[in-house]
Amino acid sequence: MTKTGIGYDLHRLAEGRKLIIGGIGLPFEKGSVGHSDGDVLSHCICDALLGAGGLGDIGTHFPNTDPKWKAASSLLFLEHTRDLLAARGLSILHVDAIVVTEKPKLGPHFPAMRAALARALGIAPKQINLKAKTNEGVDAIGRGEALAAYAVASIGEAIKPTANARERIRHVEKKARRTLRSSSRPRKRP
Ligand code: MG
Repeated sequence: MTKTGIGYDLHRLAEGRKLIIGGIGLPFEKGSVGHSDGDVLSHCICDALLGAGGLGDIGTHFPNTDPKWKAASSLLFLEHTRDLLAARGLSILHVDAIVVTEKPKLGPHFPAMRAALARALGIAPKQINLKAKTNEGVDAIGRGEALAAYAVASIGEAIKPTANARERIRHVEKKARRTLRSSSRPRKRP
C-alpha cells in the first residue's frame, strides 16, 4: 500500500545568515532565519514524510524550543525521520518538491541537493525530484524577504503478516512437520 504526505515551509531571509537549501550552502547575500539551519526544503520534505507515515509533524519531533536543535543541520531531521519510518516497516518511494524563491537561481545546485537529501534519506537521487519557482515579484517572497517550499512524499508499507496470518503460517508449518514425520515412519503391515 502506498501512502502520501504533504509538506510546506517558509522562512524569512535576512542578512548575516547562511543560506542552506537541501543540505547545501549557497553563496547569497541573505540566509534563512530559523532555530536550526533554516533549511526550508529539508523541513518541508521532513513534514511530507512524517505526514505519509502518520507520524505528526516536524515541530512535534524537533521542537524549536529544544537547544539540541539550535543551528543543527536539518539533514539530521531527515535521517531521524528515515529511521522512524524504517522502524515501522515503511520505505520511502519518492519525493517531489518545489522551492519558491526570487533569488538565487537554484537549478544548477539541484544535483548536489538531491545527492545530499538522498544520502540523508537512504534512497537514490533519482527518487527525489526538485523544482524551482519564482513568485513573479509578488509578496514577501517576490521582494526577497522570504522563501518557501512545498513537498509531496510517497512511502510504501512493507507487507507484514497480521496476527491471524502468523497463526495460519504456524498451523500450516506444524501440519507439514507432522506429515513429514509420519511419512518417514515405517508403515505397519495391515
Ligand atoms: Mg522550517
